[in-house]
Amino acid sequence: MSLERLEGLEAAHLMPNYRRLPVEFVRGEGCLLWDDEGNEYLDLLGGIAVDNVGHCHPAVVSAVREQVGRLIHVSNLFYTEPGVELAARLSKRSLGGKVFLCNSGAEANEAAIKLARRHRRGGGIVVLDGAFHGRTMGALSATPQEDKQAPFAPLVPGFVSVPPEPEAIRSAVGPETAAVLIEPIQGESGVHPIPPAALAAARGACDAAGALLIFDEVQTGAGRTGTLWAYEQGGVTPDAITLAKGLGGGMPIGALVTSAGLDTVLGPGDHGSTFAGGPVVCAAALAALDVIEAPGFLDGIIAKGARLRGLLEDLDGVSAVRGSGLMIGFDVDVDAPALVRAALEGERIVINATGPSTIRLVPPLVISDAEIERGAGAIGRLLAAARSSSA
Ligand SMILES: *Cc1c(COP(=O)(O)O)cnc(C)c1O
Repeated sequence: MSLERLEGLEAAHLMPNYRRLPVEFVRGEGCLLWDDEGNEYLDLLGGIAVDNVGHCHPAVVSAVREQVGRLIHVSNLFYTEPGVELAARLSKRSLGGKVFLCNSGAEANEAAIKLARRHRRGGGIVVLDGAFHGRTMGALSATPQEDKQAPFAPLVPGFVSVPPEPEAIRSAVGPETAAVLIEPIQGESGVHPIPPAALAAARGACDAAGALLIFDEVQTGAGRTGTLWAYEQGGVTPDAITLAKGLGGGMPIGALVTSAGLDTVLGPGDHGSTFAGGPVVCAAALAALDVIEAPGFLDGIIAKGARLRGLLEDLDGVSAVRGSGLMIGFDVDVDAPALVRAALEGERIVINATGPSTIRLVPPLVISDAEIERGAGAIGRLLAAARSSSA
């Protein structure tokens, strides 16, 4: 089907809630994508930090093919093996408590919000300015952005937002607080790491108040920052983490993982989801984890991230390069959304703008050094062209 026809059908039948770029992708492999005319693109966005093991990783493809041909869905009224195996593995490799499986990042945060409210009935939830936790009503209420929240008021009550500063966090947390919910590196706002002192202040304040410290690792998890979870680098261990995006090798899955003390907070009937923890997505997640946890893989991400950040820092027009591993944001002195479009059409690279002057790169973690150089070179040429035409 031609792109024009797709655009026409979308306009006729889909709600106009996405702003899509004018390209139809039909195939992917590793860090590369191909459009319907056979053109090759270098993907530095990875389906928004989802395709961590690359497009169509052979291990994920074969795990899904094997499972999908045997059993797709039976519901949580029965046992299936992959979900139980995945929960055991996630717990063992993180906080050691129990796991709630779900289907997306917003749902993982909904589960975390319910966990916190069940743990301290009526308690408030403290979030940080600039945060993004998802689009469902609870997760949206935890996302203090006027443009996203205002059209959907009234929101879920009990959320308060403070700047990511130690004193502000300490003064917002008290005996009525159920939880502090933090993205250790804010992704959608343009890759802003929360300062270690603010994370430590949140930990101390939660301990003093008996509140839960919950990290939203939906974007930072699954190897993205060069450790399996970002909290491993920040010096602060949360009571629970929420996961999604890169967890399923491209398949839709989310999870809430708690520490051991929270094992009995959510009981029978407290929460659930029909599709959650199904065998196909869990088989995919297990295969993706095998790739990410293979010896040397995570160390390679630290090295690749440092290389890419170094190349970006050398470009004219780039400032404030930030992030960790292969979660990278930087500011440009030209129109970022226009740069994204020029990148797609002129250089055939996929990048992302999180704001009018901010670019985010969250490529597949399997990106090669040659692809890193190709990407940085292309961004350099695009910037030079945009800056000379605006000068
Ligand atoms: C993407 C994202 C979400 C929402 O995940 P969905 O799967 O889109 O619901 C929540 N939190 C963070 C930090 C995210 O990056």
